Amino acid sequence: MLKVELHTHTSDDPVDPIPYSTFDLIDRAAELEYDALAVTLHDRQLEIGCFSEYAAARGIVLIPGIERTIDGRHVLLLNFSSASESVNSFEDLARLKAREPGLVVAPHPYYPAASALRGHLNTYGHLFDAVEWNAMFTPFINFNALAERWARTHGKPMVGNCDVHRLEMLGTTYSLVDAEPNADAICQAIVAGRVHVVAHPLTFVAAARMMARLYAGNFMPRVHPETDPVAAHHRRRAPVASPLAIDI
Ligand SMILES: [Zn+2]
Ligand SMILES: [Zn+2]
Repeated sequence: MLKVELHTHTSDDPVDPIPYSTFDLIDRAAELEYDALAVTLHDRQLEIGCFSEYAAARGIVLIPGIERTIDGRHVLLLNFSSASESVNSFEDLARLKAREPGLVVAPHPYYPAASALRGHLNTYGHLFDAVEWNAMFTPFINFNALAERWARTHGKPMVGNCDVHRLEMLGTTYSLVDAEPNADAICQAIVAGRVHVVAHPLTFVAAARMMARLYAGNFMPRVHPETDPVAAHHRRRAPVASPLAIDI
């Protein structure tokens, strides 16, 4: 079984200020013995060519991905071509799915955020291959319960994701996938339901601390996205202006 994370952001993200690079994330995933990882920036599909070799040397398969905003709602598009950046409507998504065999995941569908799918998951449920169990939950506050019920009712698999915005967020929830270690096989196995979610709740204190760090981090310097990511990896971090809200 492969340990897989399908929802992460890095300093290449055009929306959220993230204080670590894609290389840092790969290093951390390797420490935690992940086998596969998708970097899902907001509305930009990361060009993974220069990162794939670095990841492979650490035993990690990189899966192309994007967290696309469609009708104001977040949707994870995995293992599609860069055409996924041009999906602007659910009708576009249907056309993309007809052309390419990628994986469509509903992230944090019932979380209290404007970007959550909620009713759209019912309306466009046929376009989704899997539903996310999000790592941000405690034994007493868990917005995943509705997602789990929806997935069970509609016969869809769940995947465990950390929606990583800080490196310490990685690892408490993940998927175990029964597949060969390549992006196509992993996504096909998830569609076929050969996936098991491992999810450890955060304590209330840990969740509160994480949320506080996420919001405080908006005022901190971040890694400046560079055209040469290898050089950027070794370059000093430079402060840039940051938005005041985290887009989950
Ligand atoms: Zn999101
Ligand atoms: Zn996200």
